[in-house]
Amino acid sequence: MAIRRVAIAEKLAELGVHEDSLAKARALASKKEIPLRQAIVEVKGVDTVAMAQAMSALSGLPVVTQVDVGAILPETIRKLPNHIARENGILPLYLANGELVVGMADLDALNTLDDLRVLYGYPVRPVIIPADVLSDVTQQAYDKAAQSAEAIIEEADDDVEDGDDLALDDAELLDDPNQAPIIRFVNAVLSQAIKERASDIHIEPYEKDLVVRYRIDGVLKESLRPPSKFKNTIVARIKIMAGLNIAEKRLPQDGRIRKKMGGREIDLRVSTVPVRHGERVVMRILEKGKVFSLDKIGMSGKTLSIFRELIRRPHGILLVTGPTGSGKSTTLYSALTEINSPDKNILTIEDPVEYEAPGIGQVQVNHKIDLTFASALRAFLRQDPDVILVGEIRDSETANNAVQASLTGHLVFSTLHTNDSASSFARICDMDVENFLVADTVLGILAQRLVRALCPHCKEEGRYVPPETELLELGLDEEQMELARGKPVYRAMGCVECNDLGYSGRTGIYEFLTNSDDIQRLVIQNAPSSQITKVAVSAGMDTLFDDGLRKVLEGITTFEEVKRVTTAEH
Ligand SMILES: [Zn+2]
Repeated sequence: MAIRRVAIAEKLAELGVHEDSLAKARALASKKEIPLRQAIVEVKGVDTVAMAQAMSALSGLPVVTQVDVGAILPETIRKLPNHIARENGILPLYLANGELVVGMADLDALNTLDDLRVLYGYPVRPVIIPADVLSDVTQQAYDKAAQSAEAIIEEADDDVEDGDDLALDDAELLDDPNQAPIIRFVNAVLSQAIKERASDIHIEPYEKDLVVRYRIDGVLKESLRPPSKFKNTIVARIKIMAGLNIAEKRLPQDGRIRKKMGGREIDLRVSTVPVRHGERVVMRILEKGKVFSLDKIGMSGKTLSIFRELIRRPHGILLVTGPTGSGKSTTLYSALTEINSPDKNILTIEDPVEYEAPGIGQVQVNHKIDLTFASALRAFLRQDPDVILVGEIRDSETANNAVQASLTGHLVFSTLHTNDSASSFARICDMDVENFLVADTVLGILAQRLVRALCPHCKEEGRYVPPETELLELGLDEEQMELARGKPVYRAMGCVECNDLGYSGRTGIYEFLTNSDDIQRLVIQNAPSSQITKVAVSAGMDTLFDDGLRKVLEGITTFEEVKRVTTAEH
């Protein structure tokens, strides 16, 4: 220790802090009961960054001057009581390469590292953070941790007796300045969902409790289980926010929440359905200001160039197929965005309008006034559009109107619920459209799925070369085997960055069938879709599985993901 004191004195001298000012600082430190480093800053006006650099020079530890508070997990923070963090000038930050990075303002804090290692169960890597920065970040990190939905509900739980459901106090559920715990809880649920990039929030009442689940990258994940006594109040609060009738609990309702949160405008579509133990709520988070671009949806170069060519045709029908949540809307909006120009008249009929697209005339289906896909399509033709998007073709009238629109010189985009591209022909023919008209008007059919993308921070740990047996189990054919043999791929591992999921974000896999003379003939003959697929593949089409396999070999996703989305029943 003596050596270090001398060394510190030398370093301070370099910073211009000499014996006399050091003595003053010592006096101030003991008088105000503050650490010496802080006293030096006050007495001498030495800046905290210089102090941090001096300590770094002595210890060899790196200096970190900027900390992203958003990256510090509330769970990490909650393990260490605030006063201990403050008294010792330490702050656990995040895991990196299996080590807990800990910020400290003073070398004295090195004494606490053993305790932190035991507390967190990870080796600890200290970094020096300027005292004022550390103090700010500590404040923010603890504030944020305290605001998490879990913390709020625990706090409220202590205040409310077990057994009795919260009495519904309407005033308490309206936005009031006191921010009743339930209001704060619902806000925290929303902001947590946004932070975790969830697409939907599910709130499901059961006999004993309420389950809050988030859909992240297409997969539902349980997030919270607030006690049952809060369930009616939580649902009521959401209904108020969505402009729904809170007294009506026997009928399904739909509404919308628009809210500013963390400087961002969020837009949620809310639907409630009565179930045995209350009302089930599903909130879909609509991304505002989402940028649509065909370059960003994960289409391979080959598919993309053919797709780009077809979306510029003057007339015809382009279909996108896949189950709900397979990214069809994103693809269609990306296509419309690309061809949108002031001289083009683009009209859409959607149920619901999911994204706002500037420069495009968007119409919302409204069954109450009989505004349907089919009736809107008919009306559109009098508006002289160039391009029409019909949300979905699911009945004979819409199908026939879409064909008519195409025949009269319009480009029509729409979606279908079919598993693969080839079976879409039969699906439309089944809607009482003449085979030759289907064969004639459909330009191409894009089948798609979304797969979760590997987390770039931890995927390297899961790198392996799959054995031949594994490839065989996946049902790879000889050509695909040739492609995959001996190539390294990845398994999902999990780290702090990806909430231990091993995945972060999603990308599409695509199968784009383009019409041809051969395929037209097969459609007119009512040939089975397997035969159509065969002809398309021999003409160069990649199937969904082919495209998925390519993305596995490129290290974008895993075999498990491709299998999950290509074999699931829809
Ligand atoms: Zn990760």
